[in-house]
Amino acid sequence: MFFRDIIGQGVLKNRLVQTVTENRVSHAWLFFGPEGAGVLPLALAFAGYILCTGRNETDACGSCASCNKVGKYIHPDLHFVFPVNKTRSLDKDSVTSDDFIAEWRNFLLKNPYSRLTQWYDFIDLENKQGVINTEESKRLASKLFLKSFESDYKVVIIWQPEKMNDQASNKLLKLLEEPPSLTIFLLVSENPDQLLATVRSRCFPVKVPRISDTDLSLALVNSQNIPKDKAENIVRLSSGNYMKALELMSETEDIRYNFAKFRDLMRSCFKASIPELVKMAEELSMLTREKQKSFLEYGLRMIRESLALHFNEAGIVFISEEEKEFTPNFAPFINGRNVVPFTNELNQAIHDIERNANGRIVFLDLALKLAALIKR
Ligand SMILES: [Zn+2]
Repeated sequence: MFFRDIIGQGVLKNRLVQTVTENRVSHAWLFFGPEGAGVLPLALAFAGYILCTGRNETDACGSCASCNKVGKYIHPDLHFVFPVNKTRSLDKDSVTSDDFIAEWRNFLLKNPYSRLTQWYDFIDLENKQGVINTEESKRLASKLFLKSFESDYKVVIIWQPEKMNDQASNKLLKLLEEPPSLTIFLLVSENPDQLLATVRSRCFPVKVPRISDTDLSLALVNSQNIPKDKAENIVRLSSGNYMKALELMSETEDIRYNFAKFRDLMRSCFKASIPELVKMAEELSMLTREKQKSFLEYGLRMIRESLALHFNEAGIVFISEEEKEFTPNFAPFINGRNVVPFTNELNQAIHDIERNANGRIVFLDLALKLAALIKR
């Protein structure tokens, strides 16, 4: 990951580059920002820039020996600490990042924007949470005690430092207070408030903002090969979160299904045809729990968009052409009198599904209530 691979964040990239070119690199940094904004990718690019031997005024060269190793995350002076735990295939007392370094490299090569839960899935943590334990801090201290192998600097990236237990945090604090020579710590956090205040105060803060809509849209057009208007629709639902945008793109199949079923359900509600409503409830109850929830959440979005259209509000988002055609016909049935109960019923159904209620009953109950509301 180099600066040129980062989505947007131009201002921040320039600032980081400047600290290196002007020789103002602090020994401890805290990169923080929302999920999907590229906090870890920025720290990786910054590390690569520090370690590059042929850097220019905007980025690492990408071709020196150091860049080659950084690109594969195998540079001997680039150290990683991240949350781990025992797994079915690795069951020993004190697991540390070193036990998962091969998986970690693959995870970063796949997509360094990925979220924490995706990392847990990647290493099959099942229901366990990852932690950064005391053994990990001990190991880190002894590694950093050694001289660097190839570069002037050693760089340590600690991903999700909020997953450190107290003992580990205190050990890290000692390292930050009396840093080993020529060592740079990059803490990469989504929840800096959960860090020890003493750790936080030792670090130079780098606040990473959400990706701007323009930058995110451009990235989708270029990397995902989709037309600009479709990219813009996805971006409007993504809140500057690249992972969310990718998910929305891969969800188009689900969206198509949800749209078709939502349209059918609304038509049956309008006709108040009991046999049709029973049949639909039956069908929806056969879906997996996740898909049932996804359908109901889709319904909520359609209600919102319809109301917005009804009041001629700007900023309406349609993902598919079918939605664009259907919604103006449907919108007149959603109004100030029924929008709140409509929304409440859908939310109640989501709530019930999450609590393992019987899907057939939930969907039939919902369908009958919506049929009554749609005529109001
Ligand atoms: Zn280089």
